Amino acid sequence: MLDTPRLIDPFARTIDYLRVSVTDRCDFRCVYCMSEHMEFLPKKELLTLEELDRLCSVFVELGVRKLRITGGEPLVRRNIMTFFRAMSRHLRSGALEELTLTTNGSQIARFARELADCGVRRVNVSLDTLDPAKFRDITRWGRFEQVMDGITAAAEAGLRVKINTVALRGVNDTELHDMVAWCGDRGHDLTFIEVMPMGDLGGEDRLDQYWSLKDLRADLERRWTLTDTAERTGGPARYVRVAETGGRIGFITPLTHNFCESCNRVRLTCTGQLYMCLGQEDEADLRAPLRTHPNDDTALVTAIRRAIDRKPKGHDFDYSRQTVTGQVSRHMSHTGG
Ligand code: SAM
Ligand code: SF4
Repeated sequence: MLDTPRLIDPFARTIDYLRVSVTDRCDFRCVYCMSEHMEFLPKKELLTLEELDRLCSVFVELGVRKLRITGGEPLVRRNIMTFFRAMSRHLRSGALEELTLTTNGSQIARFARELADCGVRRVNVSLDTLDPAKFRDITRWGRFEQVMDGITAAAEAGLRVKINTVALRGVNDTELHDMVAWCGDRGHDLTFIEVMPMGDLGGEDRLDQYWSLKDLRADLERRWTLTDTAERTGGPARYVRVAETGGRIGFITPLTHNFCESCNRVRLTCTGQLYMCLGQEDEADLRAPLRTHPNDDTALVTAIRRAIDRKPKGHDFDYSRQTVTGQVSRHMSHTGG
């Protein structure tokens, strides 16, 4: 056991949530996330599953209680279940409170039972539309039926499924009420996310697609009775209850509402860079101390602490002047959404 106190940043926020991108690869090419001809990292750049295990275990010893596995598409990483199985020991010991993942749903039918067996209780599945043709347009390579089957399999395996929907004006704004009704029927929470200016997508216009969740909420209220709740799930979403369905809707609003003051998380890329803020470029390399000292975590712990000591107060995304400012150059699939 490391004889060290928990991770606390300069703004007195306790860091107890780590999001880990286990691969930059994906079987989809969502228009807001990747260009169609993405170049992926050479395999040797990626942390091995053993290195990911060591790194995550050090974070758990430093007080991380929630681990979210993401990507790219986490379930396309070869042997990823070995990693989930390894992390489940921290759930069993009580050191970790929650092990979860964010997925596009394409592979989840294959892995749902094993994930449940590893102690995963909730999964976030990204789904922006219920229209198969539109689904193809947004994901470019995705198969709608496969994702639907995956969501069903996950629920059957006892996993609570939350649907994440990126709000895209001119794309899924006509489906707002259908999504709420569908999630309500199936008992899935639904979270809307504002499209963020991440990565260069070669001509995609974020301002055209940007749909403020303030406007989205106003549209929702034309049909549904929404009541604000104080419920939080450890993330940045603010929730409302829908009286007609009994379901819950979350809003992640990095652009219209700044949620940074309660930020408890950091993000690890698949190459071992630690980003202290999704919306800032500053990062710390953890791969070097990890590889230079294969049997001693001292340098790694020092690097993590130094990184947390410079966690910024917040991000600078801003669309308000009709241009995208605060844009960060890396893709969401690199840092892990
Ligand atoms: N492949 C998995 C998936 O799609 O759920 C996990 C990684 S993906 C990068 C995580 C989340 O980021 C998804 O919900 C996706 O919709 C969201 N995302 C990707 N690019 C985004 C952007 N530019 N703005 C807002 N959300 C974005
Ligand atoms: Fe892949 Fe997820 Fe990005 Fe879509 S949002 S391209 S599924 S990583």
